[in-house]
Amino acid sequence: MDYDVIILGGGIVGCAVSYELSKYNLNIAVIERDYDIADDVALINSSIVYDGLECEDTLLARLELRGNKLMPGLASKFNIPFKKKGYLLTADDKEGEEKLTEIYCRALKRGMENIHLLNPEDICKVEPGLDGNIKKAIYSKNTGIISPYDLAISYGEIAFDNGVNFKLGEEVLDIQSIPKGFKVVTSKNKFTCNMVLNTTPKENYSVDSEDRASKDRNHLRYFLIDKDSEKSYRNIVSTVERDCRKIYIMPTSQNELLMGIKDNKEMSYEIALQEIKEFMKNVSEEDIKGFYKSYFYNDPLVIDDSLIDKGYIKVIGKHYGQITMTPVIANIVCETIVSNLNCVLKKDFVDRRREFYRFRDLSNEDRKKVIKLNKSYGKVVCYCEKVTEGEIIDAIRRPLGARTIEGIKRRTGAGFGDCRGAQCLCNIASILSREINKDMIYIVKDSKNSNIVKGRIKEFNEM
Ligand SMILES: Cc1cc2nc3c(=O)[nH]c(=O)nc-3n(C[C@H](O)[C@H](O)[C@H](O)COP(=O)(O)OP(=O)(O)OC[C@H]3O[C@@H](n4cnc5c(N)ncnc54)[C@H](O)[C@@H]3O)c2cc1C
Repeated sequence: MDYDVIILGGGIVGCAVSYELSKYNLNIAVIERDYDIADDVALINSSIVYDGLECEDTLLARLELRGNKLMPGLASKFNIPFKKKGYLLTADDKEGEEKLTEIYCRALKRGMENIHLLNPEDICKVEPGLDGNIKKAIYSKNTGIISPYDLAISYGEIAFDNGVNFKLGEEVLDIQSIPKGFKVVTSKNKFTCNMVLNTTPKENYSVDSEDRASKDRNHLRYFLIDKDSEKSYRNIVSTVERDCRKIYIMPTSQNELLMGIKDNKEMSYEIALQEIKEFMKNVSEEDIKGFYKSYFYNDPLVIDDSLIDKGYIKVIGKHYGQITMTPVIANIVCETIVSNLNCVLKKDFVDRRREFYRFRDLSNEDRKKVIKLNKSYGKVVCYCEKVTEGEIIDAIRRPLGARTIEGIKRRTGAGFGDCRGAQCLCNIASILSREINKDMIYIVKDSKNSNIVKGRIKEFNEM
């Protein structure tokens, strides 16, 4: 067999499982169709670490709570930002209050700790920025925020450093059963292996019977509020869900503010803004730095091991709390795979991410020290986010380094600022072109055919 385990999909779940499995003496490959790992993680650079409060399904609530408990430890091990932030689930009328009481009683029954039912007076103390109309709220002290890419990339980098083979830009076309294992057919190769973990369940391959996940999709609209707008919230705030509609406010890890609205109907920018303004009276259009459209997923998440006797596991479904659950999903899947293969823990597993510097977070004294070691850390490329050439080069040269503009943006923050890359895009592209020794016309934004330069001007072809 070419591999003991092949993981299909290099999203956060694929990366986390590859990290857990790289602790064992196994030959592992991750196959990802994009040029980078974690490419499908939501574009917003902050995610809520939920605690299961609103999860109707008890099992998923438990997965969220267990993931929530593991997150601070992982963040400190991987040296990535994690901020504890309280969660206020609010109601402004009788019906909403009843729903809140129901959620609160369910949570207590499940044994959840650190949650409180607040009256308007206490709500004001916990979150002074909120409008006075709120009648009741559940306050949870369990939640937090984390950067989802940093988490996914850390998992991937450590797995790569411990021998996992990442095959990027390679699409899985089919998985076929063969005696004692599988044949995985990709756009470039054919591999054999003993076990397959499929985290790309949109696809149905020869080995699959049917796609069992229901598709619970709602429309999601996000507004990013400028960090200079003087609107600040201590907690994540959300309205209790009514008729599939929910509004929330979320402070991000970069001290900005994200306001979102989910609904089962398509919403224009204007309607979404109007709804949000009704909830947050002091928001003005001038404060809005970005507007994003996405989907809100609420599928039942299933770790399908019905074909485990053959060596096939599938993670089915998409869920709004999947980042939170990822560490637990990875542990469960890893235990299942390990118990089916004859393997032992490696003695030389290195559970550490290679060091990196974030110029914007360093003191002037530390900046001087780093620049003395490497002058490229003294050259600022992205002025909005204070990202230096040294950080961009490091993002490219690191294990599983960036090969796209988006990959550099996710790893360093370059291009995330107010000008949205208008000033630094060309410089970033030319650093990438130089570092990977590819002509500028082959540099892509993120996926295939997203080249940022269409071609050379004929007259200058000889230059
Ligand atoms: C807008 C939004 C906000 C969110 N906010 C939160 C939050 O606040 N908190 C939280 O906990 N979670 C949140 N989530 C959930 C979370 O971001 C996603 O559910 C999670 O990233 C899914 O990870 P995954 O690895 O399962 O799937 P994916 O990221 O979809 O990974 C699957 C990978 O497989 C690859 N692939 C697909 N087909 C093939 C093929 N044929 N061959 C090879 N590769 C293939 C894809 O390119 C992809 O990289 C949010 C999600 C969204 C959309």
